[in-house]
Amino acid sequence: MARRKKIYEGKAKTLFEGPEPGTIVQYFKDDATAFNAEKKDVIDGKGVLNNLLSEFFMNGLTQIGVPNHFLRRLNMREQLVRSCEIVPLEVIVRNFAAGSMSKRLGIEEGTQLPRPIVEYCYKDDALGDPLVTEEHIAAFGWASQQDMDDILSLALRVNDFLSGVMLAVGIRLVDFKIEIGRIYEGDFMRLIVADEISPDSCRLWDIETGQKLDKDVFRRDLGSLTDAYSEVARRLGVLPNNPPTSGKPTLVN
Ligand code: UDP
Repeated sequence: MARRKKIYEGKAKTLFEGPEPGTIVQYFKDDATAFNAEKKDVIDGKGVLNNLLSEFFMNGLTQIGVPNHFLRRLNMREQLVRSCEIVPLEVIVRNFAAGSMSKRLGIEEGTQLPRPIVEYCYKDDALGDPLVTEEHIAAFGWASQQDMDDILSLALRVNDFLSGVMLAVGIRLVDFKIEIGRIYEGDFMRLIVADEISPDSCRLWDIETGQKLDKDVFRRDLGSLTDAYSEVARRLGVLPNNPPTSGKPTLVN
């Protein structure tokens, strides 16, 4: 069998050329990194869980009409997505203070914000993804004013959707990051949600106990990351209620 062409290898995923033009295969690795890759580990099963969870969230977004890159899951570690041009911004939405915002502004983690706050970081690992304003984005041409209006609207729709889905299973959506892609259809360009939505890129706290069920478990050495992600997947019905004793994730149906 011919070897498929690798397009890009990131920290948590590898992208391969897809079977049809305009498609990409997204392979979810078990690699975990934090603090701009200063902390690294391989977490058995993380890629499988993120593949299933990202499929679940993207399908939900499709159901409510939020355009995104997801086409279909291919196997336990891979999904087929639409190829798009990634806008070089990390779009962060926060409902409660945590992480870098708590540090920067001296707000205690867990404080509810008066309204969702959207932040933009310029995607550049060498610079540590610095926080930027819409002034930088416009001046450097990373996105137009019309793009920014669309990005804000997408980000807030994803926030409402994810907050509701998580609330229904007793989990608080503290914050999350999404990436946005451009697709070209004839003379038109559309912005869609791309990359992944998983506990790697969200902060998820159990509403009753405050237990962290996201990548902070890895960043802050709080226990088993697979257990935390499996708990999210189990509550959302992505995993069976009684996972096999090996602790490895298993696909329902
Ligand atoms: N985030 C992410 N990738 C990044 C930076 C942040 O997925 O490169 C997510 C992170 O998991 C959290 C949210 O964006 O859900 C806000 O992160 P924050 O700015 O607080 O950064 P951190 O404290 O993780 O450095």
